[in-house]
Amino acid sequence: MSSEISLPSNFIRYIINEDNETGRYDNTVVTRFPPEPNGYLHIGHAKSICLNFGLAREYGGICHLRFDDTNPGREEVEYVDAIKEDVAWLGFDWGRHLYYASDHFEKLYAYAVTLIRMGKAYVDHLTADEIREYRGTLTEPGRESPYRSRSVEENLGLFDAMRNGDFADGQCVLRAKINMAAPNIVMRDPTLYRIRKQAHHRTGDAWCIYPMYDFAHCLSDSIEGITHSICTLEFENNRELYDWILDTLDTHHPRQIEFARLNLTYTVLSKRRLIQLVEGGHVSGWDDPRMPTLSGLRRRGVPAAAVRNFCERIGVARRDSTVDFGLFEHCVRELLNKSAPRVMAVLRPLKIVITNYPEDRTETLPAVNNPEDPDAGTRDIPFSRILYVERDDFMLDPPKKFFRLAPGREVRLRYAYFITCTDVITDEQGNIVELHCTYDPETRGGDAPDGRKVKATLHWVSAAHAIDAEVRLYSQLFFKEDPAGDDDFIAGMNPDSLEILSGCKLEPSLAQAEPGVAHQFERLGYFCNDGRDTMPDRPVFNRIVTLKDTWAKVQKTQGASG
Ligand code: ATP
Ligand code: MG
Repeated sequence: MSSEISLPSNFIRYIINEDNETGRYDNTVVTRFPPEPNGYLHIGHAKSICLNFGLAREYGGICHLRFDDTNPGREEVEYVDAIKEDVAWLGFDWGRHLYYASDHFEKLYAYAVTLIRMGKAYVDHLTADEIREYRGTLTEPGRESPYRSRSVEENLGLFDAMRNGDFADGQCVLRAKINMAAPNIVMRDPTLYRIRKQAHHRTGDAWCIYPMYDFAHCLSDSIEGITHSICTLEFENNRELYDWILDTLDTHHPRQIEFARLNLTYTVLSKRRLIQLVEGGHVSGWDDPRMPTLSGLRRRGVPAAAVRNFCERIGVARRDSTVDFGLFEHCVRELLNKSAPRVMAVLRPLKIVITNYPEDRTETLPAVNNPEDPDAGTRDIPFSRILYVERDDFMLDPPKKFFRLAPGREVRLRYAYFITCTDVITDEQGNIVELHCTYDPETRGGDAPDGRKVKATLHWVSAAHAIDAEVRLYSQLFFKEDPAGDDDFIAGMNPDSLEILSGCKLEPSLAQAEPGVAHQFERLGYFCNDGRDTMPDRPVFNRIVTLKDTWAKVQKTQGASG
């Protein structure tokens, strides 16, 4: 099978190929994506999802979706539902392989009892502070708890009493009996169970003791028959404990493999931080289009395929690194450039009256839907006497390099005609309120039969046919390249990350634009109908990404000033 793999390689594929050659797991590949339901998924999780589901797909295996729900209180059903929706949106299907660590609670308890019977676990009455103090440091060995040498019988009775609720929270814990002098601190009698008299979103009040991550995780992997347990590098030290528990209990033993987590510039990718943004009201919610969450990206209009392409592009390595946010935007642009239909929309409208065009006339002009896709065809756009163009496409007193509209200047209206500005109408304060222009009927479609050239082509919409919309422009939430490094990371937020433009004018074909389907607004970027805030009489559009990498420029200016 290994010879059939054609994708660019990563070190995990080498390990799987090796296991397949030695027959370690009977040539099967079973991976899992194990989120804790205590927040929404972000683009870092997407890396893990693409990796786990992708490897399973590639090797003809299976990937489980497992909720690591061992922390009652922090976890909510809302998060479970959102996580499922996000994984499905990304394009992956766990089929019937949906699990919860809480499904395994009874088996986990039985394994803990087995460890006690083997003399490998004990109930400890030290307080949390004492346990920390007894643990020692990197340079000093730990000390043994006075409760460490309890008999098996006594431990069995106490653990049973823990389960029965005879002790208060924090009064005792179950610990593995390994080695208080182990060089790896994780191995110094780690806690396996703690008391939490709190209802659980799935098991209700059935339990008041809950397994710790290190105990629940390896055994859930084992119970489910996982072969390759892929996790991020911070669990490298925990691998020794993962292996110890499974070896000691002599049960199915998946291989833990660590890889580097995704970090992105100008972005925080930690649920703890993201929760602060949501709860502090710094964003409108988990699905705020500025959030690096999958629900935020989806609402913004980023296609799932762009996220997958990005994850494939960044690859998988064992060394921590930070990926430039520009690379993500590049992947989005690259995909949308191929797929997104082109339309015209004016974000900051300036009214134009074509004085030599009949008042009662409307004509339709064919416009190309996507120059990158010959099959996309054309659509008809209406043209009439009163139009809108972009305010900054006109200058009263243009500098040398400004080739767009100005008094006396001729330009092309995309797919329509050449127009020449004849008059500038101002209000009493001197503000420009409209332009009067003439058009050349000979230039229909945008070319002059006499071969004369213009230096600019403007996008426009017909006033009588335009849809009024609100358009939201986004930029980075943070100024700093590494915002998460600051304790007060909120202070480093960009106050101008959202710009709302109302009274924008869209071409009428956008009345049918569905949320989640991106359009290129010519010259302005890629946009998408906002599924949450759009009202029947007031559509809202989000800018997904600009047409060019303007971010690189911003970065330089920011860097220079700060
Ligand atoms: P966070 O730090 O955001 O709270 P977490 O690791 O605590 O993330 P989990 O719900 O435990 O969140 O993560 C589920 C899986 O996603 C884990 O296997 C974890 O390793 C992986 N994961 C989380 N963040 C990233 C990331 N930035 N890059 C790659 N994988 C990640
Ligand atoms: Mg976690």
